[in-house]
Amino acid sequence: MAYDKSIAAFEEAYRVIPGGVDSPVRAFSGVEGTPPFIERGEGGYLYDIDGNRYIDYVQSWGPLIFGHCDADIEASVIEAVKKGLSFGAPTTVETELAEEIVSLFDTIDKVRFVSSGTEAVMSAIRLARGFTGRDDIVKFTGCYHGHSDSLLVQAGSGAATFGNPSSPGVPADLTKHTLLATYNDIESVKQCFADSKEGIACVIIEPIAGNMGLVPAEEQFLKELRALCNEHGALLIFDEVMSGFRASLKGAQGITTVKPDMVTLGKVIGAGMPVGAFGGAKEIMAHLSPEGPVYQAGTLSGNPVAMAAGLTSLRKLKSNPALYVELGNRAKKLMEGFKKAADAVNVPMVTDVRGSMFGFFFSDKPVRNFADALENDQKLFAKFHKGMLDRGVYLACSSFETGFISTATTDAMIEESIKAAYETLKEITA
Ligand SMILES: *Cc1c(COP(=O)(O)O)cnc(C)c1O
Repeated sequence: MAYDKSIAAFEEAYRVIPGGVDSPVRAFSGVEGTPPFIERGEGGYLYDIDGNRYIDYVQSWGPLIFGHCDADIEASVIEAVKKGLSFGAPTTVETELAEEIVSLFDTIDKVRFVSSGTEAVMSAIRLARGFTGRDDIVKFTGCYHGHSDSLLVQAGSGAATFGNPSSPGVPADLTKHTLLATYNDIESVKQCFADSKEGIACVIIEPIAGNMGLVPAEEQFLKELRALCNEHGALLIFDEVMSGFRASLKGAQGITTVKPDMVTLGKVIGAGMPVGAFGGAKEIMAHLSPEGPVYQAGTLSGNPVAMAAGLTSLRKLKSNPALYVELGNRAKKLMEGFKKAADAVNVPMVTDVRGSMFGFFFSDKPVRNFADALENDQKLFAKFHKGMLDRGVYLACSSFETGFISTATTDAMIEESIKAAYETLKEITA
C-alpha cells in the first residue's frame, strides 16, 4: 500500500501539533510506519487520504459499536444540530439518556454527564473522597483511568506501593494518595489497606481491563475486593468507560455478580461524540453540587448533540440484546483464526474475548496482570501490525490495547482478516 499522502500529512502536522497528533497513541510510536490519516469511515471500513481501505478494529478506540456513519445515529445528530449546538441550560434529552442508563444499571440511581472518560473518572474520585472524607485511593497497575493527575500513576515494581507520578508535570504531592495494587491479586490490595494511614476513599478498577491488552478480572478476585471495601468502608468504583455497552449491554456488570458503588462510563455512551458519565447510589450522588458540597461542572456537559447520539445508540442496543451474542461470536471467530495462524508458524499466542472486545498477546502464558502483559513479544507485534495494515486490516497500534467488533464488522471481513494474519505471520517469521 502507498502511504505517501499520509506521510506528508504527518510531517505537516508535526510542525504545528506536538508529535503530529492530539492523543499520543495515534502516532504509531510502538509499531512500524506512520499513521494513516483518515479521510472517512463507512460501516466497518476506514478510508485514508491515500485512498487505502481498512477493516477497522479500533473503532475510535471503542465508541463505534454500530460502525461508521450509522444511519440512525447520523439522523439524530443532524436533527439535534439543526436545533442548536449547545445551550448551557437543561435539555430533556439529558434526562432521557440518564433514564436509559438508570434503568439499565441497578447500581446507578443517578448519573451526571461530562465530556470525556477522563472527566468522568476524575469527578467520581473527587466524589468518593468527598463522600468518605478520605484522601487515599487504590488503583491497579496497568489499569488506565484517563490522564487526570492523581490517576496518572503506573507500574512501579508491580508490588503494592505508594504511587510515583508516571509523567513529568504531575507533582508527587498529587499522587502520594494513589496506592498501587496488582490486578487479580487480592493480597496486594490488602497491603494497600494496611499501608494507608488515614484510610482508603475508594478502590477503582477496570472490571474487564482493556488498557493492558484485554485482561478480565477473575470473579473470585472481584468478590474479595467487594468484601474488602465493605470491611473498610471504602467505595468500589467500576471504571466501565471501555467495557460499558461493550462486554455486554451492562458492560462487566452483565457478566460479574459483584456490584460497585459507583460506575464510570464513556466511549460507546457517546457513539463517537464526546460524552462521559459517572453514577451511583443516590446517597453518594447527593453529595455532588448543587445537591451537595462536592463541586463538579462543565460548560459543554450534557451537550445536546452528543446526548442525541448517545441516546439513539443506547436505545438501538437495548432493543436488540441478541446483538452481543453475534458480536461475541465474530470476536471469537477472529481470535480463533489468529490463534490458528500463530500455531501454523509455531508462534505462541494467547487470546481472550468479552462480548465485542477481543485481545491477543504474543505470549506463551496466560496474562492475568500488567507484569504478565509486559512479557508479550512487542517486536513481533510491531511487525504483525505493519503486515496487517499493509493488507488492509487496521488493528490498534499497541500490544496493550483491546480490539473491537462492531455490528458493521461482517463475517467476510473476519475471514479476510484471518487470511491476512496467516500471510503476515508467515512473512514475519520466515
Ligand atoms: C478510554 C478510557 C478512559 C479515558 O476516557 P477518555 O474519553 O479518553 O478521557 C478512562 N477509563 C478507561 C477504562 C478507558 O478505557
